[in-house]
Amino acid sequence: MLRRTKIVATLGPATNDAETLEAIIAAGVDVVRLNFSHGVADDHIQRANLVRESAKKVGRNVSILVDLQGPKIRTEKFVDGSVTLNEGDAFILDASLDTNAGTHEHVGVTYKTLPEDVKKGDMLLLDDGRLELEVTKVEGSKIHTRVAIGGVLSNNKGINLRGGGLSAPAITEKDRKDILTAAKIGCDYLAISFPRSPDDVKQARSLLQEAGGNGGIISKIERYEALEVIDDIIKTSDGIMIARGDLGVEIGDAELPAVQKRLITAARDHNRVVITATQMMESMIQNPIPTRAEVFDVANAVLDGTDAVMLSAETAAGKHPVKVIEAVTRVCLRVEKEPEATTSSHRLNTRFERVDETIAMSAMYAANHLHVKAIIALTESGSTAMAMSRISSSIPIFALTRHDQAIGRACLYRGIHPIKLKEFFSDHATANSTAVALLKKEEHLEDGDLVIITKGDLMGSHGATNAMKIVEVGNMAEPGDTA
Ligand code: PGA
Ligand code: MN
Repeated sequence: MLRRTKIVATLGPATNDAETLEAIIAAGVDVVRLNFSHGVADDHIQRANLVRESAKKVGRNVSILVDLQGPKIRTEKFVDGSVTLNEGDAFILDASLDTNAGTHEHVGVTYKTLPEDVKKGDMLLLDDGRLELEVTKVEGSKIHTRVAIGGVLSNNKGINLRGGGLSAPAITEKDRKDILTAAKIGCDYLAISFPRSPDDVKQARSLLQEAGGNGGIISKIERYEALEVIDDIIKTSDGIMIARGDLGVEIGDAELPAVQKRLITAARDHNRVVITATQMMESMIQNPIPTRAEVFDVANAVLDGTDAVMLSAETAAGKHPVKVIEAVTRVCLRVEKEPEATTSSHRLNTRFERVDETIAMSAMYAANHLHVKAIIALTESGSTAMAMSRISSSIPIFALTRHDQAIGRACLYRGIHPIKLKEFFSDHATANSTAVALLKKEEHLEDGDLVIITKGDLMGSHGATNAMKIVEVGNMAEPGDTA
């Protein structure tokens, strides 16, 4: 059975070598995330090259998502890599301390004006809220705190202010430079961190385009403010990421499950993709098997309708990167069989605006009600496949396209298996029979299977799908047949 839910894996030290990278790709990674919060441009460019080589070797489509750091406030580095802070300890965040000079007494911060933004009594949350520091005094560049919840604090960990409200712009100077690298890499998606408004999304898109890039823009939803204008942010983006780490700190953990469900539904309603991220298999950073709670978390995100689940430190720095991908795969495959994941009442009572969307919806309705083996979308931009993927189904959808850009985007669409076409077909019978032959060769189809094919009368134009055909494999019109 083909997995419908896509897996995004963050790369890092645990997946640096070609062997492990190939192994996680072979185990099922669909999208790799290059986290620009760490590392320098050259590292990322090298990694991207290695990903493309490995994907080719393994024979899978893997797309590249560049994730910008944004105005994330982080601690700088410790002399010894980490320290342990205990409840009651005094600890100083010092904006003028040297980058690598952190000790048990103090550490530097990346956001130099942080001391101006906080006051006595504020709660600072570090490392996705694992540690809590209460501000006791602000003195010049030094924020004096007392540890309320202690733990191990290592290099470059995030700092959030409870209740949100920090006023840093979404696209930083560093992000502008990183966008040039993203364009150079030719990323399929560019994720922006902490956007507050649709304007932030538009700005990122024009910067990427000016740099010659054409990736889709993913807005990471991780601020309270973003939720207030969520529909507009979704509409100006190609997709969203439910960034549960920072979002949970800003809005409180109890809000997260309801917000996750709402965001997934909203993204699907607007024909946009959605990634559910952070701590999905957290315990597997250390352990070879997930906790029951993590199994349920992945399964519930699938039932909520997410396109993809994302792994962060699990694959970037964990001990079992391959086992994590295997665990996510097995959980997704099983829960995807449930009626909740295969039946759809989506769009039943809405009007369609576009012809290609109408064909996509009709094809999904037919596929879910007739016993067909697969859907083949012959597509230029992939927009028909995107619309199809908004509908829950158990029928695999193969998006056949000549365009690398469409393949890269479709790697993230739930239920869509992109396949690269090498040729252009001017007549329909040849297109149909070539597509079916291709899937027969890969053993997705056999004689007697029913298949739905969608395409445009004018093959070669974008968004022009206007036809749907149901054919029987082994018993279909051949080139030259009339009618
Ligand atoms: P990050 O984003 O891993 O870049 O912080 C995800 C999140 O905040 O959940
Ligand atoms: Mn984040």
